[in-house]
Amino acid sequence: MIRCPICGVATQISENFKKDYILCQNCFCFFINKSHIDDETENKRYFDNFYSLNFYNDKFKVMIGKIFKTIDYLLKFYNTYNFKNFEQKILRLINDKKILEIGFGEGDFLKKILDKGYNAYGLEISSSAVEKFKQKYPEYKERVFLGNIDTVNENYDVIIARAVVEHIDEQIAFFKNIKNKLNKKGLFIFSIPITNKAKRNIKYECDINFWFPYHRVIHSEDSIKLLANKVGFKIFYIHNYDYFDYRLMNLYLKNGIRDIAFYRNPYFKVNGFPNTNTFLLLCFKALFINSYTLYANIIFQNEN
Ligand SMILES: [Zn+2]
Repeated sequence: MIRCPICGVATQISENFKKDYILCQNCFCFFINKSHIDDETENKRYFDNFYSLNFYNDKFKVMIGKIFKTIDYLLKFYNTYNFKNFEQKILRLINDKKILEIGFGEGDFLKKILDKGYNAYGLEISSSAVEKFKQKYPEYKERVFLGNIDTVNENYDVIIARAVVEHIDEQIAFFKNIKNKLNKKGLFIFSIPITNKAKRNIKYECDINFWFPYHRVIHSEDSIKLLANKVGFKIFYIHNYDYFDYRLMNLYLKNGIRDIAFYRNPYFKVNGFPNTNTFLLLCFKALFINSYTLYANIIFQNEN
Protein backbone atom coordinates (compact mmCIF):
# COMPACT_ATOMS: atom_id res chain seq x y z
CA MET A 1 0.00 0.00 0.00
CA ILE A 2 1.15 3.53 -0.77
CA ARG A 3 -0.52 6.75 0.34
CA CYS A 4 -1.56 9.57 -1.95
CA PRO A 5 0.34 12.74 -0.93
CA ILE A 6 -2.80 14.86 -1.42
CA CYS A 7 -5.80 12.99 -0.06
CA GLY A 8 -3.93 10.40 2.00
CA VAL A 9 -5.98 7.49 0.69
CA ALA A 10 -3.95 4.30 0.31
CA THR A 11 -3.64 2.72 -3.13
CA GLN A 12 -2.84 -0.89 -3.89
CA ILE A 13 0.53 -0.95 -5.54
CA SER A 14 1.07 -4.56 -6.46
CA GLU A 15 0.23 -4.00 -10.12
CA ASN A 16 1.66 -0.48 -10.26
CA PHE A 17 4.74 -1.08 -8.21
CA LYS A 18 7.23 -1.05 -11.04
CA LYS A 19 5.75 2.07 -12.57
CA ASP A 20 7.24 5.48 -11.97
CA TYR A 21 3.86 7.09 -11.34
CA ILE A 22 0.78 6.00 -9.46
CA LEU A 23 -2.77 7.16 -10.10
CA CYS A 24 -4.75 7.88 -6.93
CA GLN A 25 -8.12 6.19 -7.30
CA ASN A 26 -9.68 8.69 -4.93
CA CYS A 27 -8.60 12.19 -6.07
CA PHE A 28 -7.21 11.22 -9.50
CA CYS A 29 -3.86 12.92 -9.17
CA PHE A 30 -0.77 11.10 -10.40
CA PHE A 31 2.14 10.97 -8.00
CA ILE A 32 5.66 9.71 -8.24
CA ASN A 33 6.56 6.28 -6.92
CA LYS A 34 9.25 7.23 -4.46
CA SER A 35 10.20 3.64 -3.79
CA HIS A 36 12.52 3.65 -6.77
CA ILE A 37 12.96 7.29 -7.78
CA ASP A 38 15.19 9.99 -6.27
CA ASP A 39 13.58 12.63 -4.10
CA GLU A 40 12.81 16.19 -5.19
CA THR A 41 16.26 17.49 -4.15
CA GLU A 42 17.35 16.08 -7.50
CA ASN A 43 15.60 19.16 -8.95
CA LYS A 44 18.28 21.49 -7.65
CA ARG A 45 21.13 19.56 -9.26
CA TYR A 46 19.16 19.31 -12.47
CA PHE A 47 18.18 22.96 -12.75
CA ASP A 48 21.64 24.18 -11.75
CA ASN A 49 22.85 22.45 -14.88
CA PHE A 50 19.76 23.26 -16.96
CA TYR A 51 20.01 27.06 -16.75
CA SER A 52 23.71 27.03 -17.48
CA LEU A 53 22.85 25.75 -20.98
CA ASN A 54 22.03 28.40 -23.54
CA PHE A 55 18.71 27.22 -24.93
CA TYR A 56 17.52 30.45 -26.38
CA ASN A 57 20.55 31.37 -28.42
CA ASP A 58 19.30 29.32 -31.32
CA LYS A 59 17.37 31.80 -33.44
CA PHE A 60 16.20 29.15 -35.90
CA LYS A 61 14.56 27.03 -33.22
CA VAL A 62 12.91 30.05 -31.64
CA MET A 63 11.55 31.09 -35.04
CA ILE A 64 10.21 27.61 -35.88
CA GLY A 65 8.60 27.38 -32.44
CA LYS A 66 6.90 30.75 -32.98
CA ILE A 67 5.57 29.78 -36.41
CA PHE A 68 4.00 26.55 -35.14
CA LYS A 69 2.56 28.27 -32.08
CA THR A 70 1.02 30.96 -34.28
CA ILE A 71 -0.62 28.29 -36.45
CA ASP A 72 -1.91 26.59 -33.33
CA TYR A 73 -3.24 29.91 -31.99
CA LEU A 74 -5.17 30.43 -35.18
CA LEU A 75 -6.62 26.92 -35.03
CA LYS A 76 -7.68 27.35 -31.42
CA PHE A 77 -8.40 31.02 -31.25
CA TYR A 78 -10.79 31.07 -28.31
CA ASN A 79 -8.44 29.05 -26.11
CA THR A 80 -5.54 31.39 -26.88
CA TYR A 81 -7.63 34.47 -26.36
CA ASN A 82 -8.54 33.32 -22.86
CA PHE A 83 -4.97 32.37 -22.12
CA LYS A 84 -3.65 35.81 -23.06
CA ASN A 85 -6.49 37.37 -21.13
CA PHE A 86 -5.30 35.67 -17.97
CA GLU A 87 -1.98 37.48 -18.06
CA GLN A 88 -3.77 40.82 -18.38
CA LYS A 89 -5.98 39.82 -15.47
CA ILE A 90 -2.93 39.01 -13.32
CA LEU A 91 -1.17 42.24 -14.24
CA ARG A 92 -4.20 44.20 -13.05
CA LEU A 93 -4.58 42.11 -9.88
CA ILE A 94 -0.99 42.44 -8.68
CA ASN A 95 -0.35 45.98 -9.84
CA ASP A 96 0.18 47.68 -6.45
CA LYS A 97 1.19 44.59 -4.45
CA LYS A 98 4.40 43.21 -2.98
CA ILE A 99 5.19 40.23 -5.18
CA LEU A 100 7.47 37.20 -5.01
CA GLU A 101 7.98 34.93 -7.99
CA ILE A 102 9.38 31.56 -7.01
CA GLY A 103 11.20 29.51 -9.63
CA PHE A 104 11.51 32.46 -12.02
CA GLY A 105 13.73 30.42 -14.38
CA GLU A 106 14.79 32.48 -17.39
CA GLY A 107 13.21 35.47 -15.65
CA ASP A 108 11.10 36.73 -18.55
CA PHE A 109 7.98 37.39 -16.47
CA LEU A 110 9.92 38.89 -13.56
CA LYS A 111 11.74 41.25 -15.91
CA LYS A 112 8.48 42.23 -17.56
CA ILE A 113 6.78 43.27 -14.32
CA LEU A 114 9.91 44.97 -12.95
CA ASP A 115 10.04 47.03 -16.14
CA LYS A 116 6.45 48.06 -15.45
CA GLY A 117 7.58 49.31 -12.06
CA TYR A 118 5.97 46.54 -9.98
CA ASN A 119 7.40 45.83 -6.51
CA ALA A 120 8.59 42.32 -7.35
CA TYR A 121 11.26 39.88 -6.19
CA GLY A 122 12.43 36.54 -7.51
CA LEU A 123 13.52 33.33 -5.83
CA GLU A 124 15.28 30.36 -7.45
CA ILE A 125 16.81 27.08 -6.27
CA SER A 126 19.09 27.15 -9.32
CA SER A 127 22.27 29.18 -8.75
CA SER A 128 22.91 29.37 -12.50
CA ALA A 129 19.43 30.90 -13.03
CA VAL A 130 20.16 33.57 -10.40
CA GLU A 131 23.60 34.34 -11.84
CA LYS A 132 22.26 34.50 -15.37
CA PHE A 133 19.50 36.92 -14.35
CA LYS A 134 21.97 39.19 -12.53
CA GLN A 135 24.26 39.25 -15.55
CA LYS A 136 21.48 39.90 -18.01
CA TYR A 137 19.70 42.52 -15.95
CA PRO A 138 22.27 44.13 -13.61
CA GLU A 139 19.78 46.92 -12.84
CA TYR A 140 17.64 44.32 -11.03
CA LYS A 141 20.36 42.31 -9.32
CA GLU A 142 19.06 43.26 -5.87
CA ARG A 143 15.70 41.74 -6.75
CA VAL A 144 16.67 38.06 -7.02
CA PHE A 145 17.70 35.51 -4.42
CA LEU A 146 18.93 31.95 -4.24
CA GLY A 147 16.86 29.65 -2.03
CA ASN A 148 13.51 27.93 -1.63
CA ILE A 149 10.27 28.85 0.09
CA ASP A 150 11.62 27.64 3.47
CA THR A 151 14.35 30.31 3.37
CA VAL A 152 11.92 33.19 2.77
CA ASN A 153 11.65 35.34 5.88
CA GLU A 154 9.34 38.09 4.68
CA ASN A 155 5.66 38.13 3.84
CA TYR A 156 4.16 39.03 0.48
CA ASP A 157 0.77 40.02 -0.93
CA VAL A 158 1.25 37.83 -3.96
CA ILE A 159 3.33 34.73 -4.61
CA ILE A 160 3.65 33.51 -8.19
CA ALA A 161 4.86 30.06 -9.20
CA ARG A 162 4.71 29.01 -12.82
CA ALA A 163 5.67 25.39 -13.51
CA VAL A 164 6.94 24.87 -9.96
CA VAL A 165 4.24 23.03 -7.98
CA GLU A 166 4.56 19.86 -10.07
CA HIS A 167 8.20 19.57 -8.94
CA ILE A 168 7.36 19.33 -5.25
CA ASP A 169 7.06 16.04 -3.33
CA GLU A 170 5.48 17.29 -0.11
CA GLN A 171 2.52 19.14 -1.58
CA ILE A 172 0.62 19.80 1.64
CA ALA A 173 3.71 21.10 3.45
CA PHE A 174 4.61 23.28 0.47
CA PHE A 175 1.17 24.90 0.23
CA LYS A 176 1.11 25.46 4.02
CA ASN A 177 4.47 27.18 3.68
CA ILE A 178 3.16 29.40 0.90
CA LYS A 179 0.16 30.31 3.01
CA ASN A 180 2.43 31.26 5.93
CA LYS A 181 4.40 33.62 3.69
CA LEU A 182 1.27 35.37 2.41
CA ASN A 183 -0.36 38.40 3.96
CA LYS A 184 -4.04 38.37 4.85
CA LYS A 185 -6.16 37.86 1.71
CA GLY A 186 -2.90 37.30 -0.17
CA LEU A 187 -2.90 35.48 -3.50
CA PHE A 188 -1.01 32.43 -4.65
CA ILE A 189 -0.99 32.45 -8.44
CA PHE A 190 0.33 29.28 -10.03
CA SER A 191 0.27 27.27 -13.21
CA ILE A 192 0.59 23.51 -13.46
CA PRO A 193 -0.08 20.66 -15.84
CA ILE A 194 -3.45 19.17 -14.93
CA THR A 195 -5.05 15.94 -16.09
CA ASN A 196 -7.72 16.29 -18.74
CA LYS A 197 -10.96 15.03 -17.22
CA ALA A 198 -12.22 13.84 -20.56
CA LYS A 199 -9.15 11.61 -20.87
CA ARG A 200 -9.20 10.05 -17.45
CA ASN A 201 -8.56 6.57 -18.81
CA ILE A 202 -4.90 7.32 -19.32
CA LYS A 203 -3.14 4.08 -20.12
CA TYR A 204 0.49 5.01 -20.50
CA GLU A 205 2.80 7.19 -18.50
CA CYS A 206 3.98 8.85 -21.67
CA ASP A 207 0.46 10.12 -22.31
CA ILE A 208 0.84 12.68 -19.59
CA ASN A 209 3.23 15.43 -18.85
CA PHE A 210 5.90 13.53 -16.94
CA TRP A 211 9.52 14.43 -17.17
CA PHE A 212 11.70 12.03 -15.33
CA PRO A 213 12.46 12.59 -12.50
CA TYR A 214 11.43 16.18 -12.15
CA HIS A 215 7.64 16.17 -12.24
CA ARG A 216 6.53 14.73 -8.93
CA VAL A 217 2.75 15.22 -9.02
CA ILE A 218 0.23 15.82 -11.79
CA HIS A 219 -2.90 17.24 -10.24
CA SER A 220 -6.49 16.71 -11.22
CA GLU A 221 -9.20 19.30 -10.55
CA ASP A 222 -10.37 17.06 -7.69
CA SER A 223 -6.98 16.99 -6.03
CA ILE A 224 -6.57 20.77 -6.37
CA LYS A 225 -9.92 21.36 -4.66
CA LEU A 226 -8.99 18.93 -1.91
CA LEU A 227 -5.63 20.58 -1.41
CA ALA A 228 -7.11 24.08 -1.17
CA ASN A 229 -9.57 22.81 1.40
CA LYS A 230 -6.97 21.03 3.51
CA VAL A 231 -4.56 23.95 3.64
CA GLY A 232 -7.17 26.69 4.06
CA PHE A 233 -7.14 28.45 0.73
CA LYS A 234 -10.16 29.69 -1.17
CA ILE A 235 -10.12 28.93 -4.88
CA PHE A 236 -10.26 32.40 -6.41
CA TYR A 237 -9.81 31.30 -10.03
CA ILE A 238 -9.18 28.11 -11.98
CA HIS A 239 -9.11 27.62 -15.71
CA ASN A 240 -7.66 24.89 -17.93
CA TYR A 241 -6.26 25.46 -21.39
CA ASP A 242 -5.28 23.25 -24.22
CA TYR A 243 -1.56 23.91 -24.63
CA PHE A 244 0.58 23.34 -27.71
CA ASP A 245 3.79 22.79 -25.74
CA TYR A 246 2.26 19.98 -23.72
CA ARG A 247 1.09 18.21 -26.85
CA LEU A 248 4.58 18.53 -28.25
CA MET A 249 6.05 17.28 -24.99
CA ASN A 250 3.75 14.27 -25.04
CA LEU A 251 5.06 13.40 -28.50
CA TYR A 252 8.60 13.68 -27.22
CA LEU A 253 7.75 11.36 -24.36
CA LYS A 254 6.21 8.87 -26.76
CA ASN A 255 9.48 8.93 -28.69
CA GLY A 256 11.39 8.02 -25.57
CA ILE A 257 12.64 11.50 -24.66
CA ARG A 258 12.06 12.09 -20.98
CA ASP A 259 14.34 15.02 -20.33
CA ILE A 260 12.98 18.54 -20.79
CA ALA A 261 16.40 19.68 -22.01
CA PHE A 262 15.74 17.80 -25.27
CA TYR A 263 12.46 19.55 -25.72
CA ARG A 264 13.97 22.98 -25.12
CA ASN A 265 16.81 22.36 -27.50
CA PRO A 266 16.38 20.00 -30.45
CA TYR A 267 20.13 20.22 -31.13
CA PHE A 268 20.98 18.85 -27.74
CA LYS A 269 22.62 15.71 -29.05
CA VAL A 270 22.41 12.34 -27.38
CA ASN A 271 22.65 9.28 -29.60
CA GLY A 272 21.78 11.47 -32.56
CA PHE A 273 18.18 11.99 -31.47
CA PRO A 274 16.26 14.17 -31.80
CA ASN A 275 17.61 16.06 -34.77
CA THR A 276 16.15 19.11 -36.51
CA ASN A 277 13.89 17.09 -38.78
CA THR A 278 12.46 15.21 -35.83
CA PHE A 279 11.71 18.52 -34.18
CA LEU A 280 9.91 19.84 -37.25
CA LEU A 281 7.94 16.63 -37.67
CA LEU A 282 6.84 16.56 -34.03
CA CYS A 283 5.82 20.24 -34.17
CA PHE A 284 3.63 19.44 -37.15
CA LYS A 285 2.08 16.38 -35.54
CA ALA A 286 1.42 18.30 -32.33
CA LEU A 287 -1.04 20.53 -34.20
CA PHE A 288 -3.41 17.59 -34.61
CA ILE A 289 -3.20 15.37 -31.53
CA ASN A 290 -5.37 15.46 -28.43
CA SER A 291 -3.92 16.61 -25.18
CA TYR A 292 -3.92 14.33 -22.16
CA THR A 293 -2.57 17.08 -19.96
CA LEU A 294 -3.94 20.60 -19.91
CA TYR A 295 -2.34 23.78 -18.66
CA ALA A 296 -4.11 25.17 -15.60
CA ASN A 297 -3.94 28.74 -14.36
CA ILE A 298 -5.01 28.80 -10.73
CA ILE A 299 -5.33 31.47 -8.07
CA PHE A 300 -5.70 30.57 -4.39
CA GLN A 301 -6.57 33.20 -1.83
CA ASN A 302 -5.37 33.11 1.75
CA GLU A 303 -8.60 33.05 3.75
CA ASN A 304 -7.18 34.60 6.90
ZN1 LIG B 1 -5.53 11.09 -3.72
